[in-house]
Amino acid sequence: MSAVSNSNPAVPSGTTVPPALLPSYLQADNLGPWGIYLQQVDRVVPYLGNLARWAETLKRPKRALIVDVPIQLDNGTVAHFEGYRVQHNTSRGPGKGGVRFHQDVTLSEVMALSAWMSIKNAAVNVPFGGAKGGIRVDPKTLSLGELERMTRRYTSEIGIIIGPTKDIPAPDVNTNEQIMAWMMDTYSMNEGATATGVVTGKPVDLGGSLGRRDATGRGVYTVGLEAARHIGLDIATSRVAVQGFGNVGGVAGRLFAQAGARVVAVQDHGGTIYREAGLDVPALLAHVAAVGTVAGFAQAEVLADDKFWEVDCDILIPAALEQQITEHNAGRIKARMVIEGANGPTTPAADDILAERNVLVLPDVIANAGGVTVSYFEWVQDFSSFFWSEDEINARLVRIMKDAFAGVWEVAQDNKVSLRTATFIVGCKRILHARELRGLYP
Ligand code: NAD
Repeated sequence: MSAVSNSNPAVPSGTTVPPALLPSYLQADNLGPWGIYLQQVDRVVPYLGNLARWAETLKRPKRALIVDVPIQLDNGTVAHFEGYRVQHNTSRGPGKGGVRFHQDVTLSEVMALSAWMSIKNAAVNVPFGGAKGGIRVDPKTLSLGELERMTRRYTSEIGIIIGPTKDIPAPDVNTNEQIMAWMMDTYSMNEGATATGVVTGKPVDLGGSLGRRDATGRGVYTVGLEAARHIGLDIATSRVAVQGFGNVGGVAGRLFAQAGARVVAVQDHGGTIYREAGLDVPALLAHVAAVGTVAGFAQAEVLADDKFWEVDCDILIPAALEQQITEHNAGRIKARMVIEGANGPTTPAADDILAERNVLVLPDVIANAGGVTVSYFEWVQDFSSFFWSEDEINARLVRIMKDAFAGVWEVAQDNKVSLRTATFIVGCKRILHARELRGLYP
């Protein structure tokens, strides 16, 4: 059996570790979301200076929990779902990150999403580590009662590792304020005390924050405006294409349209629609609220799904799922700027193609940080039981996003690297500096 040389600074140099001892998720042939994250970390290590000796920390999730979620279905039978909660890093504070209900959720995906949360929280300098959770389920196949039972059982199962000072879940794909209310109630019932701070993205009447629902889309819009200024793009005359018209894409689309941009194409799980003169975004949002998809919207043409990527636009906003922009479509993208509303929508190969073609990519780890920033405000408000006005929240959000973006822009210019690598440099340095200050226990 061959041995590999060990790069873990905790082990004296020269020591070798037999391959069997390396965690499976460190294998280089893992091409899933976690493999992509590992490649992104490798790209940043040369810029970490002395802190690079702690970089191995970033390649290993601190804690990963897989839970069985059995529920009784309405027809009396029992169904089992697989659930996860991963805490990637807690050096800078409690774990923080959403919960996703989707049939394609895997441990690799949740690990990557938790790691991107670590980088993001550090990049905007909110005092959280990174975490993420999910259940492998298509929630559209469940009744409301089944959805509630599944959410409550999942919350009980992960209850051993979450809590207001340990790890604070939030909404993500297919989870919303109601699901956060059920999670908060379940955790509180088990604790014997109401703990509003255990989740964020709750209804405002239950300790939620004003402005949280729009926060991620507002952050996408804010960094988009900043970047547009840098590259001389006028938003008021720009054309925008959005993939995913839910919490993130819907709000971002609305704000760009309000600023005068033409939202010419929108794609979601149901199909792709196009209108040269610009879609009526408020009418489209009402249509989606009524029927659950952009498909069937009367005032638009239908486009073949793959044609979405070649739409003539200035700004492309992927706001659905990961690995959407790949080496197969990156060469066809016409936009000058890609703003990643979704987490992990662009593969490293596609990143390279876009960079070669001079398409500016505003990476997820900064572009969609608005949600977690207002989640931080919500958590602070819950702890102090003192609630701020929406204007106050939006103003603080915009200030944090602008400052964080300006810092990342400068690092990118100074080091002649992409904004993704620059954001990773800022985030990884903060995480590893905290790691170094805390020292290695025991
Ligand atoms: P959502 O459930 O509100 O919306 C998801 C959207 O994606 C829907 O319009 C859905 O139809 C579409 N979609 C699903 N599968 C698709 C497919 N195969 N092709 C095209 N479209 C598809 O979810 P959301 O909260 O808006 O999250 C979207 C993305 O943004 C995710 O990557 C999520 O991790 C990320 N994100 C969300 C938040 C937040 O605060 N909600 C914060 C940061 C990042």
